[in-house]
This record gives sequence, C-alpha cells and structure tokens, in this order.
Amino acid sequence: AKKLGKNNYQFFTPEMNNSAQKYLKLEKHLRRALEQDEFVLHYQPQVDAKTGMIIGMEALIRWMSPELGMVSPADFIPLAEDTGLIVPIGAWVLKMACSQARFWQQNGFPVRVAVNLSSRQFHQVQNQQQSRHPLLDAVLNALDEADLPPELLELEITEGILMQQLDATMDILNTLKNIGVRLSIDDFGTGYSSLSYLKRFPIDILKIDKSFVNDITTDPSDKAIVAAITAMAQQLKLEVVAEGVETLAQLEFLRELQCNFVQGYYFSKPVSSDKVMSVHQQGIFA
Ligand code: C2E
Ligand code: CA
Ligand code: CA
Ligand code: CA
Repeated sequence: AKKLGKNNYQFFTPEMNNSAQKYLKLEKHLRRALEQDEFVLHYQPQVDAKTGMIIGMEALIRWMSPELGMVSPADFIPLAEDTGLIVPIGAWVLKMACSQARFWQQNGFPVRVAVNLSSRQFHQVQNQQQSRHPLLDAVLNALDEADLPPELLELEITEGILMQQLDATMDILNTLKNIGVRLSIDDFGTGYSSLSYLKRFPIDILKIDKSFVNDITTDPSDKAIVAAITAMAQQLKLEVVAEGVETLAQLEFLRELQCNFVQGYYFSKPVSSDKVMSVHQQGIFA
C-alpha cells in the first residue's frame, strides 16, 4: 500500500484514488486484525560472532490477513503508525514476546528477546489517572504478566526517537534502564542523530544497519564505516550487532572487525516460535 501524505486527499487523480482506496481497505482490515488474532511474531536469532551461540531473538511481527494474505510489516507498520494502531499492536507485541522469552527461559534456553518500538509509543500522552507513561506501563505489564527478568528484554529504538521530545524520551529511557531492560539503537548509521546522543542516552547496544553489511566485502567505505562504528562502540563500552549477515565472507569480515553479535539469513530467517526450539536444539552456528 502506498503511503499518502496527510493533506493529499483533495488532489485525487484516478491513480491516486485507486491507491487511496487500497489504503483505506488496508486500514479497515488492520483495525480488526488485533481482535481477530491475525498477528503472529516470528523470531530471528542473534548470534555471538566468536562462539556461534545464540544470545538473543528479535521479535518481528507478521500479519496473516484472511482477506489480504500475508502482509509484510514494511507495508502495515507505517499505516499502524499513522493511525495510532501501533500503540495497541505494540503493547500486544511486548506481551507476546515477553511470555515467549519466559517460556524459553523455563525450557533451558535463556535468551534475550528484542522488541522493536515505534516513536508513536513514546509520544503517547500520560493523563492524570496514569501513574506512569503508557509505554512504561505496557513494558512493565508485559514483564510482570510473563514474570520475565527485565535483563532478558531488549528494546530496539531508532535514532529518530532520540531526536524528538528529548526530555520525555530521556525520562522513559532512564526508567527502563534502571529497571534493567536493555536498550539498543536499530538501523544505526542511517538516521540523523548526532553521536553525542550515545553519551547522553543510556544505550547498551548499536545495531549496524544491513545496508552497511551488504557490501562490506567489496566496498571499502562500507568496511571503513563498520570498522569505525565497532571501534567507537568498544571505547564507549557498547555492544555491536551487525544485521543482514547473509554470507560467510561477510561474517568473517565482521569477526575480524571485532563485531560482537551477528544476525541475518546466513544463520536463520525469522521463524515461528515452534521452529525456534528446533533451531536451538541444532545447537550453535559455528
Ligand atoms: P528491522 O527492525 O530493521 O528488522 C530487520 C528486517 O530485516 C526484518 O524484516 C528481517 O526479516 C530482515 N532481515 C533479517 N536478516 C536479513 C538478511 O540477512 N537479509 C535481508 N535482506 N533482510 C534480513 P521484516 O521482518 O520484514 O521487518 C521489517 C521492519 O518492520 C523491521 O525492520 C521493523 O522496522 C518493522 N517491524 C517489524 N516488527 C515490528 C514490531 O513488532 N514493531 C514495530 N514497531 N516495527 C516492527
Ligand atoms: Ca529491529
Ligand atoms: Ca534494523
Ligand atoms: Ca529497518
């Protein structure tokens, strides 16, 4: 579905009309999807680059719509953000991911679960009846209900989130950090945040965007960028995850650059929770 600008509805051309209709149809179905239980989470392993051990799982949402088929998050997350539906969807993701991680922990597989957050979740307004920010509420409820140690939850935020509503965002992140939740910056290097943010915000992990990993073996500037990010991270005592690792050659470059963790199709695509235990039983990716 095409994303339409907020004020563009008056300028209909036949073509736009068509995509506007598609957009409205998508929105109508999306509104019902939560009630009708059409979302699932898939999980992609994050692997220690040295030992090949799985240390975490990133939760990635999928929408199985009976009317529309399987809709990619790239297509419905922007719509969920525009409509605000990302707030209840995001709360559902936190709940599911925490209860899944608790299940793994109880079954001898104590790995972190990483959950993606949208800026809309940070920008909810806290009303007077609420004793804490709605996002903190969603995180703490999810941890409580699942009885999951906060150290096993990681929240992925983008650089953009760090640029908006600075004080409120800082308060939320500090609270999460004090609780023991781990914080990572997703798609690192693609946003517009200044590096001084790394000092000011309580970040634990940088996730190097897959666009840099893609050509790491052939493009000297991509290699230099990844080397610089990992060197800086080491100095700042941050961990680094490289995402989008598809080949052994890329993995070897990343190992050489002292990147701590790796994630990508080379190890596993995102898989359903049923398949995770069998991936685990296969042991390490050496
Ligand atoms: P992301 O957080 O950057 O997630 C990584 C995306 O790269 C995922 O796409 C994943 O399947 C894909 N990927 C993983 N390894 C490889 C690889 O080796 N090569 C390539 N080419 N791709 C790889 P996916 O699952 O389609 O998710 C797309 C985006 O949708 C995510 O990007 C994230 O921004 C968003 N998203 C997914 N789930 C959620 C969610 O629960 N909440 C929010 N707010 N956003 C989500
Ligand atoms: Ca992510
Ligand atoms: Ca990413
Ligand atoms: Ca991304």
